[in-house]
Parts: sequence; C-alpha cells; structure tokens
Amino acid sequence: MKLLKRKSAQEKTDNQAALAEVALRAITNGVIMTDKSGVIEFINPAAVAMTDCGSAENAIGLDYGLILKLESKEGRELSENENPLIQAMKTGQTLESFQGNLIAGPSEKRIPIAVSVLPVEGLQQDRVITFRNITKELEEEGEQTEFISTASHEMRTPVASIEGYLSLAINPQTATIDERARGYLEAAHAASQHLGKLFRDLLDATKLDDARIKPHFEPVEMVGLIKRISDDYLPRARELKINLSFGSDQTISLGENRRMEQVVYGFVDVNFMREILDNLMDNALKYTPEGGSIYVNVRGDGDRVLINVTDTGIGISADDLGHIFQKFYRADNSDTRTIGGTGLGLYLVKQRVEAMGGRVWAESAFGEGSTFYVSLPRITGDEYEKRMIVVRNQQMQEQLQKSAQAPVTPVNAFQAATPPATPTTPTPVATPPVSPTVSAPIATPPAPNPSIPAPPGQPGAPITNSPVQNQINNNLNGEAK
Ligand code: ADP
Repeated sequence: MKLLKRKSAQEKTDNQAALAEVALRAITNGVIMTDKSGVIEFINPAAVAMTDCGSAENAIGLDYGLILKLESKEGRELSENENPLIQAMKTGQTLESFQGNLIAGPSEKRIPIAVSVLPVEGLQQDRVITFRNITKELEEEGEQTEFISTASHEMRTPVASIEGYLSLAINPQTATIDERARGYLEAAHAASQHLGKLFRDLLDATKLDDARIKPHFEPVEMVGLIKRISDDYLPRARELKINLSFGSDQTISLGENRRMEQVVYGFVDVNFMREILDNLMDNALKYTPEGGSIYVNVRGDGDRVLINVTDTGIGISADDLGHIFQKFYRADNSDTRTIGGTGLGLYLVKQRVEAMGGRVWAESAFGEGSTFYVSLPRITGDEYEKRMIVVRNQQMQEQLQKSAQAPVTPVNAFQAATPPATPTTPTPVATPPVSPTVSAPIATPPAPNPSIPAPPGQPGAPITNSPVQNQINNNLNGEAK
C-alpha cells in the first residue's frame, strides 16, 4: 500500500515535470538555463528561433554569450562593464529587465528585446535567462511619443499667445486695470508660463523617448568641457548670492591643484553633456537658498569619468530620493511647492546619461543639501588621440566630398564681386513661373482690423521686436528653464 502511494507521488512529480516542459516549449518568450559558469543546459524553441542558432542541440554546451549577443537599444556596442546581462550572469544577481538589441545568428539581424536573469538557488546556482521580443511595444510607444510630440508642439503657440496677452494686461504701460484684477492676471500669467515650460519639456522628453535620436559621440577632454559649462552659470549664481565653484568639492580626496591639473578623457555627445549639466545646475541654483554654495567636480575614477554637482540647498527626503528621476515626479514639501518646475528635468538627465552608457544617481540629506553624480565611460589618452585622428580624417573627407560636389564653374573676380542685375539667360528652374493660383485667398491672411489687435504671434501681429514678441519668442525657443 505504502509502495503504491509513493509510486503515485513519483508519477505526479514526473507528470508535473512533463507539463512544465510542454509549457516552456510552447511559450513565445525565450528561456535559456545555464550553469554557474554560463554554459547552456536548456534552451526552449522560442529562444532557438529568436537567437537564430539553428537547434537546441547546437546551443546546449555552449557559453550563453555566443548566442545571446547584446548591444544597447541605440545600437551601440556594450563593453563588459556596461552590459547588465554579463554583470548579472557573472555575479549571480537578479536582472529585472534590460532593454537592448539581440544580435541574432549569422545574419546579425537586430531584434529589440527585454532580458531578465534569475539565479536559481538550490540547483548548483544555475541561472535562468528569459527574454522577449519588444518590437511591437516599441512601435506602440513610438506612436504615443509622436502623438505627444505633435500635440505639445501645436499647443505651444496658443500658450505663448495667452502668455503674451497676459503680459500686456499686467503691464501698466499697455493696460489699465484695478489692483484686484492685477492679482488674478498675475496668477494667470505665472500659470501660463508654467504651462509653456511644461510643453517645452514634454517636447524635449518625447524627443528623448524617440529611439531615432542617437547620441553623436566624440572624444572630449571632460574637465575643460564641464568647467566651461559650469562657468556659464557664474553670473546667475552671483545674482542669486550663491557661491559657485568648480573643482573644489570636499568629498574628493585629491588636493585641489592636482585635481585641477588632471586630464580626463571621455567619448560623449557634447550637446547631451550640456543638457545634463544645464538641468543639474538649474536645479542646484533653484533649490539652494541665498548664501548657499554649489560645487562642481570632475575626476577620473578607474575606467569611469565621475562628475558631481553638490549643493547646500534644501535637500531631498529619503522617500523622494528613489523617485526623482521618474517622469513628472516632484518632491512635495513646503519648500518645493513655492519653487516652479515640471518634474521632467531629471528624467531628461537620466535618459541622456544612459544613452551614453552612463549612470546617474543622487545622495542627499534633507535640509542639508544634495549631490548628483554622473558616471560615464572613460577613455585613455591613447584612445583619445586615436579617436581624434579618426574624427579629423572624417572631417577632411567631408570637406573633400563637399568640394567635389560643388559645381565646377569658373568664376572670375568680376563675377564674384558684382553679380549681373538681370541674368541674361534665365533658366526656368531658377525662375519659377508666377502662377495666379499661388496667390489664392488661403495664402493671403485677412487684413487686420485696426480696432482688434491680432494676438501676439499670430498673422497680423506687429513683426517689430516688442517686449511681448521677444517674450513669446523666448517662450517658443525655450530659453528659460
Ligand atoms: P523640477 O522641474 O521639478 O525641478 P526635476 O526632474 O529637475 O524637476 O527634479 C525633480 C525633483 O527632484 C524636484 O521637483 C525636486 O523636488 C527634486 N530636486 C532635484 N534637484 C534638486 C536639488 N538640487 N535639491 C533639492 N531637490 C532637488
């Protein structure tokens, strides 16, 4: 009787194992199991198909890295340190979800995937790698991004008009209003400015979410670059009575002179670097009261370039610290409530840093101040020189191409200096025919009614650079943060 019972328990286990195997073979997610050293022990059909490795028999016994090759989702090669899959497999830590491109099979076709790693305790520290194709998700995200981008772009113009009208209404030189109305209109003006900033940031965020926007990497000496950017903030810091210094952060143990002399090279997108620093500096100035200090520092830290922006401002509570890099997140306390913002700045910073293979994080003591760290891959002086040669060669080639493409028409000194007033042989391409349909009523804006001023920024509005127009232009150009 006992034997019968045990047999049926064994049957149950076998049955469950068989069912689990059926499930693993049926699911569309790729599943690979490896031993502790990364040698493949099991691979399901979905993983075979996605990696294009031919068959499970081909893959079993191989190192997982031979068939699961990854690059960043922007299409950049990932060094071992930057590759979270390799790191998780090496250290036996869990990898939640990393998005990158799988380089599949001999054709090296790129497939966007989200990959996770789970160490399995109990078995000889085996690892389970799961991954799924996210092409469709990215397409849907792209459509959403496109919609938000178009909508925020379209809404910026009317918001700038509202803001312009409100500035006119509260300006004693252009309108007469009673004090109560002024209070209301000033509040409306501040809100419209906030809305304008929100649309600008949204537009920036959608640009960032757009996978088509890729960093343009170039070899750069980082200490000089960051110093130049931080120096641009000296006048504003002075105005706000905040002490801003570069290269004097006490948390860094090197002596000041040695640190200043240190040359640190990176391979970065210079425009991205400016956006990152602009946001960190703007925040440091915004969240530091008068009399406070800001320290900006750059140093080489092994194979990383480490930048920090430290302030003695209002600080961030431990609860908020884990969320500040999320889209639209703003710490809500009595200090931040009175300081304007959209909660998009740090989200942009994170996106930009990660697109360059870096990491950003913050440390803070509430009420005492904050430090934001940006860590980016570092290159050696030799690599810098080599890459500079490549850049110079590219520039020379571009110049050669440009001059080869330019029309080779002999130009004498007289022609160059004084072009003829009327071409003697006008070509139809150069002079388009003046068709009456071109001046159709749609193309001609209605004559402005002199009693109703056209909304600023609209057809019929004065083209002169009035303060309001300048304000609108600034808003549209996103000058102020
Ligand atoms: P915001 O437009 O609100 O400044 P950010 O994304 O730049 O948006 O920052 C998110 C939040 O992080 C801010 O609302 C603020 O609460 C907090 N924060 C950012 N930088 C600092 C700083 N230097 N000091 C204190 N709090 C900060």
